Parts: sequence; C-alpha cells; structure tokens
Amino acid sequence: MHEQTLAIHAGYEKDAQGTMAVPIYQTTAYEFRDTEHAANLFELKELGNIYTRLMNPTTDVFEKRFAALEQGAGGVGTASGMSAIFYAIANVAEAGDNIIVAKQVYGGTTTLTGHTIKRFGIETRYFDVNNPSELESLIDEKTKIILFESITNPSIDVADFDAIVAIANQHNIITCVDNTVATPIFCKPLTLGCDVVVHSASKYTTGQGLAIGGIVVEREGLVEKIKNNPRYAHFNEPDESYHGLIYSNLPLPLFTLRIRLALLRDLGAAPSPFNSWLYIQGLETLPLRMKQHANSALTIATYLENHPKVKKVNYPGLVSNANYTLAQKYFPKGQSGLLSFEVETLEEARAIADGTKIFKVVVNIGDSKSIITHPASTTHQQLSNQELIDAGIPAGLIRLSVGLEDPEDLIADLEKALG
Ligand SMILES: *Cc1c(COP(=O)(O)O)cnc(C)c1O
Repeated sequence: MHEQTLAIHAGYEKDAQGTMAVPIYQTTAYEFRDTEHAANLFELKELGNIYTRLMNPTTDVFEKRFAALEQGAGGVGTASGMSAIFYAIANVAEAGDNIIVAKQVYGGTTTLTGHTIKRFGIETRYFDVNNPSELESLIDEKTKIILFESITNPSIDVADFDAIVAIANQHNIITCVDNTVATPIFCKPLTLGCDVVVHSASKYTTGQGLAIGGIVVEREGLVEKIKNNPRYAHFNEPDESYHGLIYSNLPLPLFTLRIRLALLRDLGAAPSPFNSWLYIQGLETLPLRMKQHANSALTIATYLENHPKVKKVNYPGLVSNANYTLAQKYFPKGQSGLLSFEVETLEEARAIADGTKIFKVVVNIGDSKSIITHPASTTHQQLSNQELIDAGIPAGLIRLSVGLEDPEDLIADLEKALG
C-alpha cells in the first residue's frame, strides 16, 4: 500500500462498535477472562492487554501505524523522545559497555550520552557524522550500539548511511537512527540497512506541538544480527526477571519487545492513551504536511542565501550545500522543514530572533507554526564551548523550523527582522 493510505489506515480496522475514528482507550488496566487467561498473558503464551504501562489498544494503533510508515517489523511507544533514546541504549548496554554516538545530535542526546549514562557506567565515544571512517578506531568488543541522526538538529548535516551501516555490519553492531527531523516521509532508515529507528513524536508527528512522546521501531529480521552474537548476550541468555525467557528465541520483533517487557515494566515511561490518539490524528496528514514544510523551507533557504547579512545557510536542499549530493541520495523527495543560518555575532542573532513576529521564539521544531531558535543560548546552553564547536553550533547560528504559513508572509517577517 502507498504511504498516504498507510498513514490513514495502518494498524486499525474497527473495534466491536464499528467505530470509524480510533477510540481513546482511557484505562489503566484490563479484565482477564479468568486466572488461566491472566497466567497465559503473563507467560506470553497468549498476547493481550495486561496493564497500560505495558500496552494499550490506542497506543497499539499508533505503534503499528508508525512502524508501517517506517517499513519496520514493530514498534514501542514511549512517554518522550528522550525516553525512546534512553531505552534503545539501555536495551543493549550496561555498566562496562560503550556506545558510539555522532557528535552532531540533539542537545538532550548529548547530555544523556555524555553525562547521565556515564553515571550508569556506560561510556560514550563520539564520531563526526561527516567522517564515518572514524568509527573503525572507536569500536571494540564492548561496543553495543551506534547512534546518529538522519538529518542532524540543529547543524543540519546529513548522515552517510551506506558508510556507517557498512562498518557497523562488519562488526555486527546495532545501528540506531534518530529520524525525528527527516520523518519516515523523507527517510526510511530501516530500508537503508539500519536496525532501529527512534523518534521524538513531540515534533512532526502531531505537527502542531500538542504532546510529548516517542517511539522505537525495529527492522524485520533483526533477530539474525542478535542471535548468538556475543555482543548481545542478554538477548541470548535466560532473563531471570522473566522466568528464564530467551528473547532471541521469540518469533516476534525482539528489540522492541524487550523494551516493553523489561524497560517499560521496570522504568515505566509509557505514553498516555490520549497522547497516542493525538499522534494517530497527526500521522493521517504527515505525508501531506511534510511536502509543504520542505517546499517552504527550500524557498526560505534560497531567500536567506541571497541576503547580504547572512554568512551561511545550512539546508541540504540547496545546491550550494556540502550535503546536497548525500541529501539527493537519501532524501530525494524533500529535506524536511528545518534549516539554520549564520550571522556574524551572538547579539545580531538574538536581535533577529527578537525581531520576528510570525516566527516565535520557542525551543521546539516540527510545528505548523514557524519557530525561530538561538541554540547557543537555549537548547544547547548546557554545552561547553568545545561541545558547541563539536556539535557545529557557532554563537551566531539561528535555527528555523519552517511551519505551514504562507511562505511569502514568512519571508516578509524575516526581511523585517534582518533589517
Ligand atoms: C526533540 C528531539 C528529541 C527529544 O524528544 P522529546 O520528545 O522532546 O523528549 C530527540 N531527538 C531529536 C532530533 C529531537 O528533535
């Protein structure tokens, strides 16, 4: 089926009432037929609803629909993008292990990997997403996952999937892509050989800045990489917390299932059914919206490129962009609605952000309403000077999340602010 049809129908037929719109199953728990049914569910002899921390019928539609758009085997929804990223890491790494993360990632991912998980005994090694050959010297037998963003936020770099996947596969390491900015409409990392995709559903998924959420999706056949792979021993050995269950023996998408059974069970960052319902509404129009976001972003990037006050524009859809060729290869249908541009000084950047009216000063992206952000004083404020340079964020960098307003009005707004 085509993408726009999946966006509207995947994961839902009808419920017992024949309800046309997906209902919100606003419930904490579910009644079992009898104690035998309950025991079967807990033992995984039968699959079904137990408790909303683990699964919920509304969330189930969101997970199935998102996984269908990513062409994945299955997904698990989470309470935020950050919990999705943390669970993807915690699903494979423990104290004494290391993970490899691109330097150019979302600010929260930098602090999570550089500080918080360090306190759990997990080491993070960083590579330059523009130079994947650095990976070779960072990998050892304790490396559990390679994490990067398809289109990076906010430096707007483009990952060379083929180069990264080739090295990861040579060493049998799981690759995990944060696909929040590109969305499955412009990029399907699982079809490019990546193993796991994570998203912040807080952005383009509702498309209106309505709810915080996340999702982890895995590819078909990931079991082959995990089965008998010494890197992933805990998928191949009995899980004592689950009566000796061996995940790699299950005929199910095992990566996301383990997140559900072990990490949602014990750590509990589950999405609320109401939020899952909002994501479902958003997904219905995601393909249509993304086309408009990308068209408007390209128009604005072209305008900015010709403005005398602008030193540099980062938008991979511009022919002048260093990532243009990679972007045409991996995102031929569009390069999303995020761009950044550089002016001379921090003060000038702030004055421009304060001077716009339609573009709001907000730390978010992927909204129908256009957003202007000064990363050095907001999203990336907790980064040291060196971390800022590594993440490709000069003091005069401004990020735009181009919304769905008329692009002519947006350009007029920027024109006034740029002076
Ligand atoms: C926003 C964002 C996150 C974090 O997601 P939350 O839903 O805010 O927790 C992670 N990665 C990227 C690329 C993001 O833009």
